[in-house]
Amino acid sequence: MNKKSKSILDHYSEYEATIGIEVHVQLKTKTKIFCACPNSFGAPVNSNICRVCTGMLGSLPVLNLQAVNYAIAIGLATNCSITKLSEFARKHYMYPDLPKNYQISQDGKPICADGYLNISIGENGEKKQIRIQRIHMEEDAGKNSHGEDEQAHSSFVDLNRAGAPLVEIVTHPDICSADEAVAYLELLHSVVKYTGVSDANMERGSFRADVNVSVKKKVDKKLGTRAELKNINSFKYIHDAIEFELERQINILESGGKVQQETRLWDSIKKESKFMRSKADAEDYRYLPDPDLPLLLIDEEWVEKIKNSLPELPQEKLARLQSEYGISEYEATIISSDRELAEYFEEVVKKSGDAKKSANWILRDLLGIMKEKKVELDEILIKPEMLGELISEIEKGIINSSTAREVFEDMAESGKYPSIIIQEKGLQQIGSEDVLRELAQNIISANPKQTEQFRGGNERIFSFFIGQAMKQTKGKADPEMLNTIFLEELNG
Ligand code: ZN
Ligand code: MN
Repeated sequence: MNKKSKSILDHYSEYEATIGIEVHVQLKTKTKIFCACPNSFGAPVNSNICRVCTGMLGSLPVLNLQAVNYAIAIGLATNCSITKLSEFARKHYMYPDLPKNYQISQDGKPICADGYLNISIGENGEKKQIRIQRIHMEEDAGKNSHGEDEQAHSSFVDLNRAGAPLVEIVTHPDICSADEAVAYLELLHSVVKYTGVSDANMERGSFRADVNVSVKKKVDKKLGTRAELKNINSFKYIHDAIEFELERQINILESGGKVQQETRLWDSIKKESKFMRSKADAEDYRYLPDPDLPLLLIDEEWVEKIKNSLPELPQEKLARLQSEYGISEYEATIISSDRELAEYFEEVVKKSGDAKKSANWILRDLLGIMKEKKVELDEILIKPEMLGELISEIEKGIINSSTAREVFEDMAESGKYPSIIIQEKGLQQIGSEDVLRELAQNIISANPKQTEQFRGGNERIFSFFIGQAMKQTKGKADPEMLNTIFLEELNG
């Protein structure tokens, strides 16, 4: 669930935005899509290459079965239908990182079509369906880089990434704001990660979003000219870039100008986009069926097999967590957004027996400390059984909740179980009525002035007595029992 943020559209209510998104997802297959080279990140420059992925004369592509399985999985997870007969096509353009001068992609017959994702936005979790037009398979290009200093006049090409398998997920232009765009991308990112077919790492470029933005006056029938924002690697930057683009286009139209069709790059430091190149239309690529690859026939049995291998997906999990554990939609949305976090939550509940409290501790304390320490869930020393044990120690009255926070921080540092920390530090709650009553009596007789004030009707002074008792027990007194005893002793 995403909060609604301020938008330039709030000031120009006669305008509306039309946004479509294309996401390239790199599949984590063992080998590349059309050859046997390793599909791995970070290898020495031009080491994972062969005749096929460098486009040598006479070499022929062979389709990777695992890549097809992964593409089907993403299609099913985004409610697409799987095309029975799909076809590979050549998309022609010249660029140094594309030695064949064409990219093998899909055009008229993509592997998946007509899907959707339901996003929810605003505080009330308003639902909206974003339609997915198509998902096609294609090969990635290599990487160009440009020299500096004494190499300032040289450029370099690394073809390790050439031929890495991609799917491109294309929406209809159903998105109307930066908030909706980010909600869609976050959900898609979570769905892709759940399927396990990609690490969807935005910084490494295995989940790359291109956002097409146009504006028009609501009374106009015809869509405005769009600009494309390319390869922005964080959801926050995408949000900023869309807002900047909406404002730029509205300003052009308001001053009587015309928006040009172009691709723009986002500068996250200056917080502005700049012109990169004018954008080609689809027909400029002269798509042709690739004669080196046969039609791809996928029967129902194949699709069924992939369907059965899919895990529970974020939106199914969201619904189940709410109904099975009685936690709120807000809590369930955050917990289900990450598969590992959801598994963590269910493990904690198994041990603690209290779903509501487990969700609280995870959302407030666990995510808080992960952010503070800048660590991921698999790096944090607090294992789910440990947090579950901590919650049940509070329930059983062995420690109180303020001591629990101390134990929690200790667990994050030491990785020790709560029972051990409690024992080592002597943190057991003082829950003995005799001990606490004697303590209360001592505090009352040592503070006659405050006692008189309370008895004279100043109820606010009551917290003074609790504070004294907590101070003397180093925070280990059972707060509820302390309350009852002080009330009895002061009123008695
Ligand atoms: Zn190769
Ligand atoms: Mn593409």
